[in-house]
Formats: sequence, structure tokens, C-alpha cells
Amino acid sequence: MPSVYLLHFYIFFCLVLITFLISQCVYSHAPRQEESMFSSVTTGAVFGIESYCMQVETDISDGLPSFTMVGYLSHEIRESGERVKTAIRNAGISIPASRIVVNFSPADIPKQGVVVDLPVAAGILCSLGVLNNEDVKGVLIAGELGLDGVIKPVRGVLPIVRTARENGIHTCVLPVENVAEGAVFDDMKIVGVDTIRKMIRYLLEPIETRDRIIAPTRVDIQALFTEQRANDGLDFADVHGQHAAKRALEISAAGFHNVLMTGPPGSGKSMLARRMPGILPPLTMKESMEVSMIYSIAGRIPQGTSLITKRPFIAPHHTITRSALTGGGTIPTPGVITLADHGIVFMDEFPEFGRENIDLLRQPLEDHEIQISRLTGVFTYPARFLLLAAMNPCPCGYFPDVNKCNCTEPDIKRYLGKISGPILDRIDMCVSTPQVEINELMDGSKEESSAVIASRVMESRQRQEFRFRGMGFLFNADMDSRAVEKFCKLGSSEEKLLKSVFKKLEMSARTYHRVLKTARTIADLGGSENIRDDDIMEAVGYRMSDYMSRSQTEFDHRGTERTAREHTKSVRDISNHTGKEVRKYE
Ligand SMILES: [Zn+2]
Repeated sequence: MPSVYLLHFYIFFCLVLITFLISQCVYSHAPRQEESMFSSVTTGAVFGIESYCMQVETDISDGLPSFTMVGYLSHEIRESGERVKTAIRNAGISIPASRIVVNFSPADIPKQGVVVDLPVAAGILCSLGVLNNEDVKGVLIAGELGLDGVIKPVRGVLPIVRTARENGIHTCVLPVENVAEGAVFDDMKIVGVDTIRKMIRYLLEPIETRDRIIAPTRVDIQALFTEQRANDGLDFADVHGQHAAKRALEISAAGFHNVLMTGPPGSGKSMLARRMPGILPPLTMKESMEVSMIYSIAGRIPQGTSLITKRPFIAPHHTITRSALTGGGTIPTPGVITLADHGIVFMDEFPEFGRENIDLLRQPLEDHEIQISRLTGVFTYPARFLLLAAMNPCPCGYFPDVNKCNCTEPDIKRYLGKISGPILDRIDMCVSTPQVEINELMDGSKEESSAVIASRVMESRQRQEFRFRGMGFLFNADMDSRAVEKFCKLGSSEEKLLKSVFKKLEMSARTYHRVLKTARTIADLGGSENIRDDDIMEAVGYRMSDYMSRSQTEFDHRGTERTAREHTKSVRDISNHTGKEVRKYE
């Protein structure tokens, strides 16, 4: 028996010895890592709405064939390994069976939703010696690969190109479909490629003669602005009647004030809202760049387009989820309110969005940005949008017409309760859109066109631009309390008037400031340097929202009808006021 144990021990010992000898042999004969086996390629990536430059380091060495990618990667990046290897092979370049390691640096930023096929391919080609490290130096490469070696478009090209520029890189090799998006900077050389072969040909060429292989793309930004501003066919001239609402929208467009329209179904609320972009002042270059960055990251810039030059108009359906509204995901993608930055969010059937969703708008309406907290960090996205809301006065839509409305008291209470006081407080103007009379519809007289309204808006916009130069504001609605104090100075009679209105309508401090800001815009539209009595009265007239918030607390079916009528009357009384004294509220 002991001899059997001895034999086993002997065999085991021999095996260990052989393994040791082989490993020694492999290591001593393995070629030392050559410099050409390592390469580094620059690419760009997006994290939230920020972009950064990323290095793709590739090392090919002898050893068991493997393909490893490291650097805080999501599964979509891990998948790209197979795609890249197949694409390179199908482009006619063989990859020897070796150990390939790809590292993405900086390693501490989670990489998600990023496509890095093309830079990884370029890295492998450099390590294989097909390209030289010198060829890819100072070049940013981005793109997705098909298995056949064809290059497909990616998201976020505009911010990536901007980051490259900030980092002193002035050549970008991008998918052909993305070149227009990247070519907005004059000092950047944007080169579009459609296959791996084409990229290799371009990069192998000496730098001085590269333009002969593929000419860099150039875009005339000025022409783009004039081209895209062409009318979309929606004109205020098509809407008959509703003069009060039109006037309110004009004021809103001029000063960027939030508006709530209340009226029965079919009175034209949506029709009016959809014509709003036509009268807004055009985007400035700076605004356009900010909007385009967000659209680029969301992959929403139409192919062949460089910049978004029209103010965004987004009308979400009321079934929208919380994350679609504000931004969702582990690394949040921009939500509706961020996509509508510098533009309009139109929320039709406002109470139907649900109290929770509506209340989410409180912070963005105040701070013009949204903060989203995730495990990966706190993300702050811009949300400087104009809220245009529309609602029926009750669930059936016909209140206070008691003949038509058959809603019960609790129904209406619940319906109005979906909009909280703080939200109403943030809406500068509330205007009713009653049913249009038949004679107004059949009246052949021409309504004012969007172009005429837009010219008035533009004039008042220029006044504001002059007023706020160097202050960081663009519109009257943006003024902080200090600016309100400075630019909304009142004469003694106006001051007296506002004081009495403040008392009668039991205004909050926030409402007081909002009334002043709206009055400032009305004065601007009238070409007046000072805020006058009439401007204040008109601005107060748009605070119908106060009636709504009050009706939530002191509700009574008949009573509310009375309150509504009384309120309208009192506002009318105040608006009609010609003397220096305000008539009694009750
Ligand atoms: Zn009703």
C-alpha cells in the first residue's frame, strides 16, 4: 500500500515540476511588450448633459486569446467588443489570436449609453500596426460600427466636439450622418467617414494632404438661422375672436410669462397655444447652442441639421410619467422640461396631469433648472421653459353655465384641487377663453397676423435686452426682487393704486412681484418707460388664478358661481377704474 501512495506523490510532483518548467519557458520566450503594441485614441463621451474627453487605451500582447474591456463600463460598451472585432475582420484586416486589453480613462466616471466602437477599432488598428500612433494624435474619433464595417451615427456629437475644442483638439473624425451637427465651430475640422476602410485611408495620409482625401464639412450658421425661421403655417390670423387670450399670449411672449387658459372645450385653447411659437422672439445664438446641446445628447437633432434655431414647443400628453417629464434613468436622460429649455411646454387638460406631476414643476418654474438625485450623483439640468397651461373650468367643461354643467360639487372641488396654490402662484397670467360667438366666427374681417404681433413682441424684447444688458436676464419674467425694485418703479398714484389692490385681493408677496413684472411687460409693449395705472390694472386682471385658489377653500356650488362672477366683476371694476380710487371689492 505505501508504494501506491509513493507513486501518487511521485506523479503529482512530476506534474507540478512540468507545469513550473513550462511556465518558466513561456515567460522567458514571450516577446517583451513592444511599444507599438500599445495605443491611445481620443474620443468623447457624455455624462448626464456634460461631455468629456475619454482616452481609449489598447494593448495587444501574446497569451491566451482574449478580449477584455475595463473602465467602469455598462453592458452596451462591453457588447461593442464583438462588434468591433467582426467589423475589422469584415473590412479585410485579420486580428491575430492574442490577448487584447482595452481601458477607458478616466476610470471613475460610469460609462453608460456611450458608443465607442470606432475609437476602439482605431485603437486595435494602431496596436496591430495598421495605423501609427502618430496618425491618431490630436484627432477625436467617435462612431458606432455595423458588423460589415459601416459607420453609424451616434448621440451627443455637438457637446463632444465642443469639449474636443476646449481640450485643444481641432480634428474630429465622425460618422457622415453627424458631420452637420459637429460643424458649427469655425476652427474645427470635421471629417465624415462611412466605413472603417475610409477612416484608415484618411488617417494614413500625411496631415498636410488629408483634406484631399476627405474635405472637412463647413456649415453657414447665419444662413441656417434665416432658413429655419420660415413660418410653419400656423398663424394667429386663423383664429377668430378670443382677443383677450391673444393679448395675454402676446404679453406672455414678450416677457416670457407663464399663462393658464381656462375655457370650455372647443373654445380654441390648443389652437391659440400652437400659434405661440410663431410670435416668440427668435433664439439667440447662445440660446440656440444651449438648446442644441441638449437635443444632441437626446439624439433629437434631425439628420443633416446643425443647430436647433426655433424655440422648442413640446405638448406632452397628460399620461406622461414623472421621469419622462423631468428626466429619468440611472444617468438621467433629459426630460420634457429640459428639452423645452428656452421654449414652451404646453400642458393641455392641465389638472389631468395629476397633482404629483404638476407639483414637480414648482422647483423648475422658480429656479429654471431641475435637480435629479441618483446613486451616480446629483444632476442639474436646465429647465428655463414657458409654461402654457389650458384647462376646463370643471370636469365637464361648462361651469359656470348651470344649464349645461352637471358636475357635482365634490367633482369640481376634486378637479380644481389638482392644481395647488403654489403652482398657481407661479403662473403670472390667467385668462379665460369663452365660447366664440357665431357673429365673431362669421365676421369676414381680417384678424391680426402672427407677423404683426411678432414685430411688437420683438420691439419689447429689444427694450428688455437694453435694460438687462450685462445682468444675465433676458426677459421681464426673469427679474429677481432687486431688479423688480430697480426697473418697476412706480409713481405715487400707481403706488397708491397697487397698495389698495394688494389689500383688496389679499395678494401674496410673490403675486405682488409677478403683477409688477407683468405690468412692466405691458408697459414695454405700449412703448412706455414708466409703468402706468392701466398697465397695473391689466396685470391685476390676469390674476384670475387667485380666484381659483380661493375657490378651493371656500367651495360651494352656488357660492362659487357667485364668487366667480363677483371676482370677474371686481376685476372689471378695477380695470375700468379711471379715477384714483379703487372701487370696493365686495
Ligand atoms: Zn361641469
